[in-house]
This record gives sequence, structure tokens and C-alpha cells, in this order.
Amino acid sequence: MLLEVRGLEVHYGGIRAVKGVDLEVHAGELVCLIGANGAGKTSALRAICGLHARGGSVRYAGEPLEGRPVFELPRRGLVMVPEGRGVFPQLTVEENLAMGAFARTDADVGADIALRYQAFPRLRERRHQTAGTLSGGEQQMLAIARALMSRPKLLLLDEPSMGLAPLMVAKIFDIVREVAAQGVTILLVEQNARLALELADRGYVMESGAITLSGEAKALLADRKVREAYLGEGAG
Ligand code: ATP
Repeated sequence: MLLEVRGLEVHYGGIRAVKGVDLEVHAGELVCLIGANGAGKTSALRAICGLHARGGSVRYAGEPLEGRPVFELPRRGLVMVPEGRGVFPQLTVEENLAMGAFARTDADVGADIALRYQAFPRLRERRHQTAGTLSGGEQQMLAIARALMSRPKLLLLDEPSMGLAPLMVAKIFDIVREVAAQGVTILLVEQNARLALELADRGYVMESGAITLSGEAKALLADRKVREAYLGEGAG
């Protein structure tokens, strides 16, 4: 098991935003965590990386993550692309990509940037532009490409489709599919339940801080409660 989360808790003062969440991701899987706005998905993801104080336990690649500094995670192959992309707006596309390799000490960084440009021709065209001048979709591409620069084993993606037009959403989902096909394990947090379940192997449904359903993505897509609550198919 690549990621094993047990009894995860996140509290904001007196508010219990994540309530004893158990979640697993196996090597090679694409797992999605879906749920409405405010269900606690982002809090859970950030707590897994240690960006929030948490209760419960998180094991990654067989070792507890407790007490390990966040900045060490990319070196160990665990990388998050945060909600809102988190690119450096004042740096160029190429500088952002180079920053993604900060944890690496090998000499292949230049070759890897060339690989990213092959996969993301739009980024090549805009490589000398500052990231802040890119469209939202291009910034999302850059955020994913930058994350790939640290050669992740496990990529945590927080709402990559947020705020994007439908065509760009489809493009970003294609990119996520390709990244998974290259062997990167992915935990994808999404409000767009249909697209996420169509893409994923397995899924978890989060409501009010707790996991209420989980299973094969195909089974969740066919589940009546999921269809009514998340796929806009109404009752009956
Ligand atoms: P979104 O789709 O908006 O990212 P989400 O499912 O990821 O939603 P969270 O952002 O994790 O949900 O929020 C879960 C709950 O915790 C919400 O009720 C939210 O208002 C609350 N919350 C989130 N961040 C904070 C904070 N810094 N302080 C207090 N409450 C917070």
C-alpha cells in the first residue's frame, strides 16, 4: 500500500472538519475523493501532507509520515498540486518548472524540462512568459508539469478542474489520465464527481467530514445515492 490513512482528524478550533477518515491508495491506482463544497476534502488532503495539524495516522510507502517536515516529501516522491495551482506568478514558465526539481540533485533536470514541453506544447510556447500571465487552464497545466519535475510516486491533486471552462476541464482530465498511464499513482480531489469517477479506479465519497461511501469507481457511478446527490440525476 502506498498511502494508508487511518482515523484522520482535522479541527479548526471547535469545528471538526475531518472526522476519523480512513483511506488507502495502492501503487498504480487512480483514486478520487469526491464530495460537495465544504465536505472537508481539501482539509483532508492538506492534513495528509502535514500542512494542517492532524489526528490519526498517515503511512506513506510503509513509513509513518508523523514528525517528517513537509519539504522532505517531494524527495520521497509525495507531491501535492494545491487548489488554486500555487504557481509562482512572477517567475517564468521555465523557472516554475525548474523550481519543481528543487529536491533533485541529478543532472537530468534540463532533459526533464524538455520532456514536459513535449507533453505540454502550450507551456513550451509560453516558456518565457511569467506564470501570472497564463490562463487558469495553462496555470493548472504548469502546476501539474511542475509537480512531475520531482518525479513523484504519488501525486495529490486538489480540484484541478476548479474554475476552468468545460473544454479546458476535459484537457486537464486527459492530462491526469496520461500521467496515471505513465505509472504515477494519483489521489484526485474533485467536486466534478462524474468526470472524476469516469477516470478513477476507485473512489471515496465525503460528506460533512466523513467518508460515507467507497468502492470501485464504476460501482459508485451506478450507485443511486451518488447519482442523485453528485451526478445531478434527481430522485426517481
Ligand atoms: P472545497 O471544495 O471548498 O475545497 P472541501 O470539501 O475541500 O471544500 P474544506 O475546504 O476542507 O472542504 O472545508 C471543510 C470545512 O472546514 C468547511 O466547513 C470549511 O468552512 C471549514 N474550514 C476550512 N478551512 C478552515 C479554516 N482555515 N478555519 C476554519 N474553518 C475552516
